[in-house]
Amino acid sequence: MTTIEYNQLYIGGTWIVPAGTGTIEVHSPATEERIGSVPRGGEADVDAAVAAARAAFDAPDGWASWEAKDRAEVLERFARELEARAAETARRVSMQNGMPIWLANNFEAGFPALLLRYYSGLMTGAPAEEVRPGMLGGSCLVSKEPIGVVAAIVPWNVPQAISFLKIAPALAAGCTVVLKPAEETVLDAFLMAEAAVAAGLPPGVLNVVPGGRELGAYLVAHPGVDKVSFTGSTAAGRAIARTCGELLRPVTLELGGKSAAILLDDVDLSASLENLFACTLLNNGQICWLGTRVLVPRNRYQEIVDAITDLAKALKVGDPLDPETKIGPLVSRRQQERVEGYIEKGKAEGRMTTGGRRPFDRGFFIEPTIFADVDNQATISREEIFGPVLSLIPYGSDEEAIAIANDSDYGLGGSVWSADPDRAIAVARRVHSGTVGVNHYTNDPVAPFGGIKKSGWGRELGPEGLAGFQVHKTVYLPPGEAK
Ligand code: NAD
Repeated sequence: MTTIEYNQLYIGGTWIVPAGTGTIEVHSPATEERIGSVPRGGEADVDAAVAAARAAFDAPDGWASWEAKDRAEVLERFARELEARAAETARRVSMQNGMPIWLANNFEAGFPALLLRYYSGLMTGAPAEEVRPGMLGGSCLVSKEPIGVVAAIVPWNVPQAISFLKIAPALAAGCTVVLKPAEETVLDAFLMAEAAVAAGLPPGVLNVVPGGRELGAYLVAHPGVDKVSFTGSTAAGRAIARTCGELLRPVTLELGGKSAAILLDDVDLSASLENLFACTLLNNGQICWLGTRVLVPRNRYQEIVDAITDLAKALKVGDPLDPETKIGPLVSRRQQERVEGYIEKGKAEGRMTTGGRRPFDRGFFIEPTIFADVDNQATISREEIFGPVLSLIPYGSDEEAIAIANDSDYGLGGSVWSADPDRAIAVARRVHSGTVGVNHYTNDPVAPFGGIKKSGWGRELGPEGLAGFQVHKTVYLPPGEAK
C-alpha cells in the first residue's frame, strides 16, 4: 500500500517548511500498519499560523471587511474542491480512525460542503446591520461583527464534520481560523488544506497546525487568539476553560456524554432496531451523543434485552473499508484497553449478554458488548466509555425512566422510542439534555447542537452556531439622525 506523506504545513495560504522538526506517524487501527505521516507543528508554527490569521483578520481590506456575498463566493469554491476530494476524505478518515466507510461516505465526505453553503446562506440571507429607533431621542445602529481569530481544536472521532462545525460558521462570519486536528487524524486535515489551496482561500484565513495536547494548550493561551472553539473530552475541556477563564477569552466547549435511549413500553421494536443501532453504537461507539444507557421497561424487559443482544451479535465487525462492516476498530490500542477496562468493571456490575472480546489477533477491535441488569449508579452507567458497550437499565414507569435519564453528570444527546409520537415528545421535553431524538437521532444542520452540565458550553449548528463567532456592536447615532 502506498503511504500518504506530507513534509510541509498549510499556513498563511501556502505550504511552508515547518519550524518544528518532529513527525506525526499515522497507523491504521485495523491493521496496525503505518499509513502516513505529517510534520509535527511546533510552537513557532502556531505563532506563524496565528500571525497569518491575525493579519488576514486585521487588515483594513482583510477577510473580516469583505461583504458576506464575496466570502460566500470563496467558500463555494472551497465547498466544490472539498466535494472533488470527498471519496478520498472518507477513505482517509476510515483508514485513520476505523469509522466504517459507509458512514464516512455518508457523513464525513458531505457535511463540510453542506455546512459551508448553509452558513454562507445564513450570512448572505440576513442584513449585516439594522437601525433601531431609540427610546431616548436617537437611533441605534446594531451590527454583528466577526469575533476575530478562532482557535479550533478538534478530536479524532468525526474529524471532518467536527472541524467544519467550527470552520464553516467562523469563515462565513468573517473570522479567521487556526485549526489543530488530533494527532490520530491529520491526513484528512491535510487533504482539506489541499482543497483550501485549490479554492484560493486568501492567505491566513485558514491555517492547519497538527500536534498534541501541549500544542493545543499553547494555541488556546496564545495572545493572538480571540475565541476558542473546542470539541473533545470533558477533562481537556475543563483545562481549556480554566485557561480561558483566566484570560477572559470566549470559549465554546463540546464535551463528553452518557446519554439515555428511553424505550417506552409501546415501542415498535422491529421498526426501531436500525435507528436504534445508529443512536447507540454508531462509529464503533465513538460518538459523544450516543445513547449508551438504554432504558428498558420492565414489562417488556426480556423481549427487549434479547432483541438488542441479537442486534449486537448480528453486526459485522471488521475492516472499516469494507462497505458491509458495521463495527470497525477503536482508534488506538489505548482506547481499546480503556474500553476493556470498562468491560471488566461491567462484568461485576451487570450481566454480559454478548461481546466482551477482541475478535481478531490484530487491530484494535472490540466486539459490540451488551450488559443487562445494570443499575444507573454503576460505573458503566456513569462514565463515558467511548466504545461499543451498552448498559441496559430496567425501569418501571415513564416517570422513573425520566428520572434515570436525568440522573447523569452529562446532558448532550438522548432519544425516546414509542409507537405514539406525542407520548414520546412529551417525555423528550422532560429530558435534561441539549438534544433529544424521537425514534431516531440526527444532527440536522438547522438546529443547535450542544450540551448542558459536563457536556459543555455553547452551541454549534443552526443560527446559534453562527452566533458563537459574532459579537454585537452598537453605534449610537446622533440624536434626530434618521438613517
Ligand atoms: P481529547 O480531549 O483528548 O482531545 C481532543 C483534542 O483536544 C485533540 O486535538 C487534543 O490534542 C486536544 N487537547 C487535549 N487536551 C488539550 C488541552 N489541555 N488543551 C488544548 N488541546 C487539548 O479527546 P479525544 O480522546 O481525542 O476525543 C474523545 C472525546 O471527545 C470524548 O470524550 C467525546 O465525548 C468527545 N467528543 C465530544 C463531541 C461533542 O460535540 N460534544 C464530539 C466528539 C467527541
